[in-house]
Amino acid sequence: MFKNADARLLEDQQLTEMIADRLDRIKRGPASVSIDYDQFTRNLREFDFSEPRSLRSVGEFVSDATAFGSVPMTHPRYFGLFNPAPSYASEWADRIAAAFNPQLAVWSHAPAAVDIEIHTVAALARRIGFPDGASGHFTSGGSEANETAVLCALTRADPRYASDGARCFAGQPALYVSRESHLAWLKIAHRLGIGRQAVRLVETDGAGRMSPSALRDVIGEDLRQGAIPIFVASTAGTTNAGMIDPMVEIGEIAARQGIWHHVDAAWGGALIASAELRPALQGMERADSITVDAHKWFATTMGAGIFLCRAPKVLSEVFRVSADYMPSNDASRDPYVTSALWSRRFIGVRLFMNLAVSGWSGYAHHVERAVALIGRLRTSLQESGWEIANDSPMAVLNVIPPPRLGSSADVVARTQTHGGAWVSLASVERKPTVRICITNGQTDEADVDALHEILCLLR
Ligand SMILES: *Cc1c(COP(=O)(O)O)cnc(C)c1O
Repeated sequence: MFKNADARLLEDQQLTEMIADRLDRIKRGPASVSIDYDQFTRNLREFDFSEPRSLRSVGEFVSDATAFGSVPMTHPRYFGLFNPAPSYASEWADRIAAAFNPQLAVWSHAPAAVDIEIHTVAALARRIGFPDGASGHFTSGGSEANETAVLCALTRADPRYASDGARCFAGQPALYVSRESHLAWLKIAHRLGIGRQAVRLVETDGAGRMSPSALRDVIGEDLRQGAIPIFVASTAGTTNAGMIDPMVEIGEIAARQGIWHHVDAAWGGALIASAELRPALQGMERADSITVDAHKWFATTMGAGIFLCRAPKVLSEVFRVSADYMPSNDASRDPYVTSALWSRRFIGVRLFMNLAVSGWSGYAHHVERAVALIGRLRTSLQESGWEIANDSPMAVLNVIPPPRLGSSADVVARTQTHGGAWVSLASVERKPTVRICITNGQTDEADVDALHEILCLLR
C-alpha cells in the first residue's frame, strides 16, 4: 500500500507517461465517450478483489476508463457544459495535496495550508470589491456555496432557526431565483427543511435575465399571502445562456425588503480577472454573499467552490459547534466551525497555485480569449443564416439553425454522433437552442472554425 522513495520516482514517471499518452490520444480522437462500453463492463466485472493486481495494470485500466469512458474535458473541441480542461498548475496542486493529505478542519493541524486558503479567498474578495472584513471559504462546489448562502440568510432572518428549524417562521420562508437559474436551489430548499415550494422561480425579461418587476410582484404577493421573503439570488452567468441578472436593481429590491442578496457567479465570476470584461459584473460587489467555482472558468480540477461573505460573522452562528476531541473551535480561523465540511481536503491550493503561476493577467487573457473565440463563431454562424438566441458578454453562445439544417435537437444529436465536436442542447426563454461554450483554454480559431463546418454539415 505504501512505497519507498525509489519506487515512487519510478512509478510516478510511469504514471506521468500513462497520462501523457491518454491526453494525446484524446486530442486526436472524437470529442465524445469512445470506450467500447460492453468490453469495459466485462473487464470491470472481473474485479472481484479476491487477488491483488499490480498498480501498473490497475492504473492502465482506470486511465483508459477515465480518459475514454467520459466526455473528454481536455479535448479542444469539447464545447460543453462549464467543466474545464484543468490547468496544469492545479493538477500539481492536487497531487501535492494528495501526497501530504493535510487535514484542514482546524488551523492548528495545518496552519500553513489554512493560511494559504485564507490568503487566496481574501485576494478574491478584494478583486471583487468586497469591503475589508469580508471573507469566506472553499467549498466542495457551487451547490455547497449556494446552500451556505441560504443557511446564512435563514439564520440572519431569525436566529431561532438555529435551534428550532423552519418552524420558527410564522409562514412559509420564500427564496427568489429566476426561472433560468441553476436548479440546485430546489435540492437546497429540500435539504434545509423549508421545502421545494419555498423556491419562487421568478419570470425572466425575454432575454434570460430575472425581471425586477416580476420579482417585486412575486414578493408583494407572498407578503399578502403571509409567506416570509428571506433570500434572493441573482445569477451572474446562467447555465443555459451565460446571462447576467440585473444585480444592481435586484440588490436594491433586496435591501428595501431587508432580505439577503446572493450572487451565484459559479462560472461567470471569472470575469473579475479582466479589466475589460468585469464591468458586466457591476453590482456583484454590493451583494451579501457570492458563489464562485474555481473548477469552472478558473480551470482548476474539481471540486473547488468558493463562498464569499460580506459580513462573515453569521457563518460562525450557522456552523458553530464544539467537540471536546477537537483541538480548538476558533471562529476566526478553524474552518470546521465556519463551514459545512468537517474533515477538509486542501481544496484552495488549486486556485492558489494557478493564480500564483498565471497571475490575474493570465486569467484575464484566459477569459478574454474565450470571449473573442465565441465572437468569431457568432459572426460566422450568423453569416451562415443561424439565429443568435442569447446576448451574453461571456463565452457561451446559443444558436438556432436555419430550417435546412433541421432543429436544434437534430443538430446536437448529429454533432455528438459525428464526434468531431461536442455541443449541448439548452433552452433560452423556452426555445431549444444549440449551446456552445468555450471551456478549454487550448481551444483555438481552427477548432472554432471546424465546429462551424461540422454544424453546417460541411465536414
Ligand atoms: C455549476 C453551477 C452551479 C452548481 O455548482 P457545482 O459546482 O456544480 O456544485 C450553480 N450555479 C451555477 C450558475 C453554476 O454554473
